[in-house]
Amino acid sequence: MKKIGLFGGTFDPVHNGHIHIARAFADELALELVVFLPAGDPYHKDSTQTSARHRFAMTELVMAADARFAVSDCDMVREGATYTFDTVQIFRQQFPGAQLWWLLGMDSLLQLHTWKKWQTLVQQVNIAVAARQGESLNRAPRELHGWIGEALQNGSLRLLNAPMYDVSSTAIRNTLAAGGSADEWLDRRVARYIGQQQLYRK
Ligand code: ATP
Repeated sequence: MKKIGLFGGTFDPVHNGHIHIARAFADELALELVVFLPAGDPYHKDSTQTSARHRFAMTELVMAADARFAVSDCDMVREGATYTFDTVQIFRQQFPGAQLWWLLGMDSLLQLHTWKKWQTLVQQVNIAVAARQGESLNRAPRELHGWIGEALQNGSLRLLNAPMYDVSSTAIRNTLAAGGSADEWLDRRVARYIGQQQLYRK
């Protein structure tokens, strides 16, 4: 059976933490493919987020880091707010019979109960979680307790063993805005792109 990983994010910018967990995800679950899904431009106007065009271009640059990586613009081309639930329906149609895994950092997992149709979603897609600084399953909200217990037991929720990579896009944006270098957290192709396009500088 084909095993496909789906990895949604803002990727503003994509960083070594993303690459690191995507690779661990592919290794631990023996995935053929990990599809990065950069989010579209926010539909509300007051966002300071980098345009989807740049975030997608940076994500494309890290595809060279691993032969199993792929990128899709499917969350960028849909109108209005995009929901993981709808993205998963697209992949279920495109790859009928495949085993789908959604990759998340622990911070995102702890918000899962706020996602559209989350209870149906977790029946349709398996979930893999990477540890993240300061976050643990013990902090899960009450709404998620029943599902977590059951899903850990039946194997549809997996915690990745990958060691934690302590970096965030926010820290990178702040460092660059203050005139510092974020090269140690970035793929060199992405670092070069940020420099050329003069992104994140104040
Ligand atoms: P920001 O700081 O802007 O919120 P971010 O670094 O969390 O960004 P996102 O694009 O929001 O990056 O993350 C996409 C997904 O990757 C989310 O599920 C997030 O939890 C996860 N993730 C990002 N960085 C890490 C990391 N260092 N370790 C584990 N998971 C991570």
